[in-house]
Amino acid sequence: MQFDNTYINLGESFFERAEPVTVVEPSLFLWNELLAQQLNVIDSIQGNAEELAVFLSGNQIFSGSIPIALAYAGHQFGHYNPQLGDGRAHLLGELIDVDGQRWDLQLKGSGVTRFSRGGDGRCAIGPAIREFIMSEAMHALGVPTSRCLAVTTTGEYVYREEAHLGAVVSRVASSHIRVGSFQYFAATGDIISLKKLADYTINRHYPSIFSSDGNPYVMLLDKVIENQIRLIVQWMRVGFIHGVMNTDNTAVSGETIDFGPCAMMGDYDPKAVFSSIDRQGRYAFGNQPHIAQWNMARLAESLLQLGENDTSNKDCDSDMLSSMQSLINGFSKRFKQEYVEMMSGKVGLIEPRLKNEAFIDSFTQQLKERRLDYTVCFHLLTKSITCKEAEQQMLADLGEHYFEWKKRVVSQRYTDVEIQAFMRDFNPVVIPRNHHVENVIKECEASGDPKAAILFLNALRHPYHESELTQPFQTPAEDHDMNYKTFC
Ligand code: AMP
Ligand code: MG
Ligand code: MG
Repeated sequence: MQFDNTYINLGESFFERAEPVTVVEPSLFLWNELLAQQLNVIDSIQGNAEELAVFLSGNQIFSGSIPIALAYAGHQFGHYNPQLGDGRAHLLGELIDVDGQRWDLQLKGSGVTRFSRGGDGRCAIGPAIREFIMSEAMHALGVPTSRCLAVTTTGEYVYREEAHLGAVVSRVASSHIRVGSFQYFAATGDIISLKKLADYTINRHYPSIFSSDGNPYVMLLDKVIENQIRLIVQWMRVGFIHGVMNTDNTAVSGETIDFGPCAMMGDYDPKAVFSSIDRQGRYAFGNQPHIAQWNMARLAESLLQLGENDTSNKDCDSDMLSSMQSLINGFSKRFKQEYVEMMSGKVGLIEPRLKNEAFIDSFTQQLKERRLDYTVCFHLLTKSITCKEAEQQMLADLGEHYFEWKKRVVSQRYTDVEIQAFMRDFNPVVIPRNHHVENVIKECEASGDPKAAILFLNALRHPYHESELTQPFQTPAEDHDMNYKTFC
């Protein structure tokens, strides 16, 4: 395992050196063998589980790793907090995978840092298992996301209303640079660091920018917006509600990070929200595009500081301002295009896409009025093309609207089989439903055995293929998630 530490080269203002706080009894609980292979971490854990637990709990530091806690700020529920930072995480460094791609390896729950602000620096086993399951599910669904290499239990207790076994998650992401990282420097007027961060981000994530003409920071904003749109559209395709889209939880790489209070939507409802602290529905399912745009405006404001200090070139400043303004204003239109294209896929309309908007809106309106489960409905719709039983069910659920859909879909110049194959890629059979996630966590926590999580993961890893593995996990919650609440 060869560590790189390029973030450290940016300088002291970007992080604090911080050693993980050791734990009494590290033990490997969940292990991601495929990801480990991709990262070249180790060939197999046969006989190495104990050693890995020692390193992945933070009790020992891999050779070449220099652990740091990153500094960042952020808007939390719309309110600016100038000092957040890794309060319970340690970045161990970067690894290059078998394809030459660079990844951060970070421990989460690895003890207090200078940014802990009174928190205990720890993570309970429940949320650790949750992050592992949710991120693996998202990855298998084809949604850009950070991933988990392992969950290691600590043998110590953490207190969250009651005592829970503690755990350390080892998280892998293409970087941990957030909108809040930019805000951190912009807010204090540290323009030198801000520029370093922007240039580093371009080099790391969007290197083609430096070889094209134009203002690189405008192009950076454009790229981040493009990837945010792609991300939120993918969330909406599978019914994912992030739950805490604060600017410090918005990665500029366009990956999903921070699975704290996330949830999956059961019955279709743009207002769906499960986070116990989101009382206004700021981060509700259907509000996610609007919030992403808001977050991108905060990134633009930060990046604009890179123009304002360039007194030698005022024209360039006003160009930068107007270019960024039009990027922010153009967000909704860009989003809608991608959204309609994605939803066209879900309903099986292969082309032409933008014309499908009115139909998609009226179709989803039916889902909402009839309180239909988002995933089940689109899965049955897909199936109904060739399966009479699914067709009967859809007829019962959608009435005349099913015929309307069918007429539209079969009038296309494609065969039924082609249309169905097209739809399959958009409509998962299985998602990490809230009640299944909670049951699995409960079982793991009570038994101290990861078996239930492994079984669930086996189903979630092939989400577009109905099988004996997926069937037990396809059922919606009996109470329609009416009583479901998530916590940070
Ligand atoms: P989050 O809501 O998970 O994005 O966390 C927001 C901020 O709170 C980040 O700076 C975290 O590092 C910090 N934080 C969350 N939980 C803890 C904890 N148990 N101990 C210390 N800091 C924490
Ligand atoms: Mg966070
Ligand atoms: Mg969190």
